[in-house]
Amino acid sequence: MDSPANRPFLPFAKGAFLLKSAPFLFPLTPDYGHWFSWLMEHPAKILVSACLLGQPVRYDGSAKTLAHTHLERWQKEGRIIALCPERAAGLPTPRPAAEIADRENGLAVLEGKGRVMDNTGADVTAAFVAGAQAALALAQANQCQFALLIDGSPSCGSLSVYDGSFTGHKHAGEGVTAALLRQHGVEVFAHTEIDALHTRLQASTLS
Ligand code: SF4
Repeated sequence: MDSPANRPFLPFAKGAFLLKSAPFLFPLTPDYGHWFSWLMEHPAKILVSACLLGQPVRYDGSAKTLAHTHLERWQKEGRIIALCPERAAGLPTPRPAAEIADRENGLAVLEGKGRVMDNTGADVTAAFVAGAQAALALAQANQCQFALLIDGSPSCGSLSVYDGSFTGHKHAGEGVTAALLRQHGVEVFAHTEIDALHTRLQASTLS
């Protein structure tokens, strides 16, 4: 009751009301302790080329194992989602080597302006696009914000790809899987950029 006798207590009564009502008045106030715990329990996931993890899935039946302390630690932390897009599309191992034709890149392939050819002359574009779609589906199912892919591949390359001449020449560009992942907001790093990915992960976890 607002009587003259109660007036000296009104400031305390209002303070008590605000304290009690805080969760309703400030529902978006961040609970940093809760978020920190959540981040520790849900570390950012990374889609990784299976051949970098030692799986013998390359066209010639080999792996291209990346021995690196960051990668080993991410595996222990349960962050790694492994995939070979070409195997996911049903291509066998071993299989003929393939390159994006005519010095094109993965984006052109996705837009229907480029082709992926193997060294027997077969057009394997559809399989490479299917592999990219499988990689994107897996990344989205696991909420991967990041990908670490081996460079140079017509699927996984993210800095450079072979030029389609099967003469060992590369040019700047990206493979079909890297292009599709980037189109959908996944941050793609080449295997040579693993330290940059480590720095990026730290910023995303702690900021
Ligand atoms: S498609 Fe990617 S993961 Fe599969 S063998 Fe080629 S580079 Fe490795």
